Amino acid sequence: MTTTAPATRRVPAGGGPRAVLVTGGAGFLGGALCARLLEEGWRVTALDDLSSGHAENVPAGCDFIHADVREPITGRYDVILNLASPAAPADYMRDAVRTVMTNVTGMAQVLDAARRDGARVVQASTSEIYGDPDDALQSEAYVGRTSPVGPRAAYVEGKRAAEALCAAYARQHGVDVTIARIFNVYGPGTNPADGRVIPQFIGAALRGEPLVVNGDGSRTRSFCFVDDFTAAFAALIDAPVGLGPINIGNSEEVSIGELAQLIVELTGSRSEIRLAPPIPDEPRQRRPDIALAQRVLGWRPEVDLAKGLRLTIDAFRGVSSE
Ligand code: NAD
Repeated sequence: MTTTAPATRRVPAGGGPRAVLVTGGAGFLGGALCARLLEEGWRVTALDDLSSGHAENVPAGCDFIHADVREPITGRYDVILNLASPAAPADYMRDAVRTVMTNVTGMAQVLDAARRDGARVVQASTSEIYGDPDDALQSEAYVGRTSPVGPRAAYVEGKRAAEALCAAYARQHGVDVTIARIFNVYGPGTNPADGRVIPQFIGAALRGEPLVVNGDGSRTRSFCFVDDFTAAFAALIDAPVGLGPINIGNSEEVSIGELAQLIVELTGSRSEIRLAPPIPDEPRQRRPDIALAQRVLGWRPEVDLAKGLRLTIDAFRGVSSE
């Protein structure tokens, strides 16, 4: 985790397509990643228990294992991308114990399989591990300000523990693991009903219902379009060994009040924007420092918020008119 070596391509001994396992492959991001990796010529297997994901998200041509990531992984893979975890607050709060254990026990199963087979692991961590940050720009060096017992702790601390396990397996067992700290991703394919802010606002605007902003609207977030996310994750597969945690996101920061206004404008909606009490334990600001990703992966986000929202709104109109 601490040394940097040249990039190595993970090519199987006998040649042929490389084998990748995407845990959480029936989710929003996992499904999009499976599709991209299939296009790149990988042999792709999605593993998912369908607790918040949907079998329809697994693209044609992708093998599917209906299983819990907390169980031992039996197949052999060159790369394991670990995305299995509830991610929307409603999902991760519903069964908080399961959320912690998916992130801890599931992570251990992934790392054990990688240790056994010499696979590379890319862990889908989250900007949430920074908690309520002191600095306006969050770099990978920031260690975070989180509560181990707050309402979001099952997810936040579960992800922090997963990072700790990655670091421990790397140091103690030499497992090749990269931690990607993902900042809010959105786009077509987002579950319209999972309560995350962009699908929630677009849905309300299209139905002509109020857009409910919790707090005074000044909290900020930085939203990354799904295609930019999959490009970054695909690049991470061949990133230098021992890279250390890396932020993946778009540094275009927007307040939640501005976001609501933008969505009302882009949808042409007559919806009002309504303020509601703040949600406890919610971070005030989120903006990734992506200098490391730009330098090491040669990657930068290409879709700005207005364009990404237009594409998402178009997709939602398709969904709602079916
Ligand atoms: P999602 O809910 O759409 O996908 C998560 C998938 O994991 C689902 O298909 C679910 O069924 C599966 N899953 C959950 N528990 C499991 C278990 N025990 N065994 C097997 N499968 C299980 O969420 P998403 O937005 O696609 O997020 C994917 C990953 O990316 C998560 O790990 C999340 O923490 C991380 N992440 C996402 C975002 C974002 O903005 N979407 C931001 C930061 C991090």
